[in-house]
Amino acid sequence: MMENIFSDGSIALRPTVIEVDLSALRYNLARIRERVGDARIMATVKANAYGHGLVRTAKELLRSGADELGVAFLEEGIALRRAGVTAPILVLGGIIGNQITHFLEYDLQITASSVFKLRQIDETAAAMGRRARVHIKIDTGMGRIGIRHENATRLFEATGEAKHVDLCGVYSHFASSHDPDTRVTEQQLKRFIEALEYFPANGLPMPMRHIANSGAILQHPDAILDMVRPGIMCYGVYPGPKVEKTVPLRPVLSMKTRVVFFKVVLAGAAIGYDHTWTAPEDTRVVTLPVGYGDGYARSLSNRASVLINGRRYPVVGRISMDQCMVDIGSDSAYNGDEVVLIGRQGEESITVEELADYCGTIPYEILTMINTRVPRKYCVPAVHGS
Ligand SMILES: *Cc1c(COP(=O)(O)O)cnc(C)c1O
Repeated sequence: MMENIFSDGSIALRPTVIEVDLSALRYNLARIRERVGDARIMATVKANAYGHGLVRTAKELLRSGADELGVAFLEEGIALRRAGVTAPILVLGGIIGNQITHFLEYDLQITASSVFKLRQIDETAAAMGRRARVHIKIDTGMGRIGIRHENATRLFEATGEAKHVDLCGVYSHFASSHDPDTRVTEQQLKRFIEALEYFPANGLPMPMRHIANSGAILQHPDAILDMVRPGIMCYGVYPGPKVEKTVPLRPVLSMKTRVVFFKVVLAGAAIGYDHTWTAPEDTRVVTLPVGYGDGYARSLSNRASVLINGRRYPVVGRISMDQCMVDIGSDSAYNGDEVVLIGRQGEESITVEELADYCGTIPYEILTMINTRVPRKYCVPAVHGS
């Protein structure tokens, strides 16, 4: 009997797995390093490292040349610290006052997006007898969090007055750096650079400046500055369908399962919930033990293809929570045959970009939708040489 033993020691008897190709991850980081030169790299590992598994992926990114990590939420930062990660970690999301003690306890860098929050951070640090590490977030046009760029000076001054705060960086975020139309990005970059003039104008050292996400790393080398924050490109996926592919990347994640059932469906018979597909002629259909409860979206029903024996076959009928069906025509497939939902098999491949198109969404959502009930299996790079 086949057994898959995973890095956390668990034995997955279920044939559905996410395979994470760590050599592809290393390749991508090396290409990003070539692109950004001496700039620091903060690898973004929010949302379970874009579905790749938070801790193992984060550790591998650090081994591959990332200097720091970015997460969305406090809990993600705490999980990394508890797993022994010692690199700087910035929590990119907004904070609620009572979280600050935990930030300080776990040595997580805090995003300060208003004067009020900065004062809260300073007071909490004072009460705990600690120093808080803070990055100031400027809103240059994303409209999410951050002090508006026209008012940034107020927050810089407040930071200068705060006695228990170390300013580790100043940052902003692009709304559409992956877009072929570069105007919004150029305007945001200009606003960011202008706000930062405060420091030299007041005889103060320039803090670490960072604004570039994957789209900007690919299309706006002038936005690389002191640090970059690549997310999706670390995982070998481009941030938009029309982005310039100035950095070669390899997809890191594959999603695989195995055939669990084979049958012949007679012409005119309908299958699946709501009978959305009817066999046009007698055909062979296999069932897979994977569904939208795993993150294989229901909106892929009657649209997506899978790979079996190196060939593409359509997913037919509604994808259920835990199962779906594939029409293999007059070909053969056997129980236990490997099925690729995302990734490569022989000469064929299915990308997250392709699935995103079918669902009317972006690759980010396809990756982060993959449920934690699907075990992650890490393929360690082969050792080359004798
Ligand atoms: C998610 C995120 C990133 C990374 O974005 P990608 O498009 O995946 O490169 C960088 N910075 C911030 C603030 C983010 O929220």
